[in-house]
Amino acid sequence: MNLKEDLKHPVFRVIGRIADSMDREVYVVGGYVRDIFLGRKSQDIDFVTVGSGIELAGAVARALGPRTPLSVFATYGTAQVKHKGLELEFVGARKESYRRESRNPIVEDGTLADDQNRRDFTINAMAIRLNESRYGELVDPFGGLADLARNIIRTPLDPDITFSDDPLRMMRAVRFATQLGFEIYPETFEAIRRNADRLKIITRERINDELGKIMRSPRPSVGFLLLDKAGLLQYAFPAVLDLKGVETVDGIGHKDNFLHTLQVVDHVAAKSDNEWLRWAALLHDIAKPATKRYDERLGWTFHNHNFLGEKMVPGIFKKMKMPMNEHMKYVSKLVGLHMRPQSVADAGVTDSGVRRLITDAGADLDDLMTLAEADITSKNPAKVRRQLESFGRLRRRMDEISDADALRNWKNPVNGNEIMEHFHLPPGQQIAVLKEAVKEAIMDGEIPYDHDAAWEWLLRNAPALLAQAPASH
Ligand code: ATP
Ligand code: MG
Repeated sequence: MNLKEDLKHPVFRVIGRIADSMDREVYVVGGYVRDIFLGRKSQDIDFVTVGSGIELAGAVARALGPRTPLSVFATYGTAQVKHKGLELEFVGARKESYRRESRNPIVEDGTLADDQNRRDFTINAMAIRLNESRYGELVDPFGGLADLARNIIRTPLDPDITFSDDPLRMMRAVRFATQLGFEIYPETFEAIRRNADRLKIITRERINDELGKIMRSPRPSVGFLLLDKAGLLQYAFPAVLDLKGVETVDGIGHKDNFLHTLQVVDHVAAKSDNEWLRWAALLHDIAKPATKRYDERLGWTFHNHNFLGEKMVPGIFKKMKMPMNEHMKYVSKLVGLHMRPQSVADAGVTDSGVRRLITDAGADLDDLMTLAEADITSKNPAKVRRQLESFGRLRRRMDEISDADALRNWKNPVNGNEIMEHFHLPPGQQIAVLKEAVKEAIMDGEIPYDHDAAWEWLLRNAPALLAQAPASH
C-alpha cells in the first residue's frame, strides 16, 4: 500500500531527501500513521531512522532554516524540531531488552523491524517510508491496518513480553480501547489480567496521564470498567473500588454505587468537556461506603456522605499525586454540594433555598446543576421524568432571582473593620456572628444584597445579636 497522497505536508519530502543524502532509512511511525487511517489530525509526528535520530534532527533543522527550534534529549537519544506548528520527534531505531526488576531497558541500535517490535500495539507499530525509493510505502509487519479495520487492540509480540517490558502498556491498551471504542483482543486481555500487578512499578505520573486520557474520552465508564475487569483498577485508582457491590438486609439492597457512579460520569461527559467535572462525578459518592447504615425504618442511608466526601477528596488527590490546586478544590466543593439542588427541589424551591444554593455554588453553579442532573440514574422512567421536571423548576426559579448574577460572586456587603469600629468590638467571634446574621437576612430575602440596606439592618439588630453572643477570648 502507498500513502503518498496522505503525506501532504512538504516536510515529509524534505526529511526523506535529507536522509537519502546521509544514506539512511527514515520512516514516519506510530500514532501519526494510525491517525491517518482514523482520519484524525495530529501535530505530533514521530520519525524513526536507522542510525542517530539526533544527527538526522540536526540536519533537518538546518535545512528548514536558521531559526528552526531544535531540542536534543541526549539521555533518551531523541531530538525535537519545531516547524510551522508541527512537532517533529526524531529517534534512532532501537532494540530494547528489559530485565524483570528494572525499569531501565538495555538499549541498542537496531533496525526498523526491531523498533516496531518494541511498540505497544499493532495499530501503533506501522511505519511509512520517506526515502525517495519506495516513498510513501506502508510497512506493517503485524497487521495493524487489519486490526484498525476490525477495531482491535493487540500487541505485536507475545503480550506477556510486551506487558512485562513496560507494564504501562496495559493502561494504554485500556486507554486506546476507551478513546477509540475498540476491543482488546482476548489473548491480549488475558495477558493484562495475568500481569496486572506489575503496574505497581509504574510511576503515578505515567498512570495519571493515561487516566486523564480515559477521563477525557467520550465514555469514561468503558475505561473504568475495563480497568476493573482487568484487575488494574486496584493499582490505577483504588479509591473507587469500595463503591463496588450490593449489600442486602431483610431482603432490601441498595444500588451498586460503582456502576451508578460510572453512569453519572458518562452522563456528565455527554454534557461537558470539563475533565474536572468528570472527576467530581467519579468521586461524588466516594463516602457512601464509609457512611452506609441500615435503618429499620428508612432502609439504607448514607448520611452526610456529601460532607465526608468533600473532606476525603484532598487525601485522594494527594495519594494519587493528582494536582493539589484549584482543580482539587473544585472537585472537593462539588462533591460537598452535589445533593443541594436535589434538597432545594425537595424542599419546594423556596427563595431562600435558591439564593443559598446560588451563593454557595458561585461560579460553579452551572456545573453543579449538570452534576446533580447527571446523578439521576433511576431505571424507572416516570421517576426520572419527575426528577428532571423538578430540576427544571429549580432552574427556572434561579433565572427569576433578580440578583442571581450578583449572588454568584457573593461577598458579604458589610466588612469586619467597619463593624469593629462602629461597635467598638475587638476582633473575634462576635464579628463573625454579626456577618453571618447579615448573610442569613439576605438569603432569606429580608433585605436586598446591598451595603446600605445591610448596614441599616445591622444597626437595628446588632444589640440583640450581641446580647446572645458574648465576647470570646
Ligand atoms: P496519543 O498521542 O494520542 O497519546 P500515541 O499513540 O501517539 O497516542 P504517544 O505516547 O504519543 O502515543 O506515542 C507515540 C508512539 O510511540 C505510539 O504510537 C507507540 O508506537 C509508541 N509508544 C508510546 N509509548 C509506548 C510504550 N509505553 N510502549 C511502546 N510503545 C510506545
Ligand atoms: Mg502522540
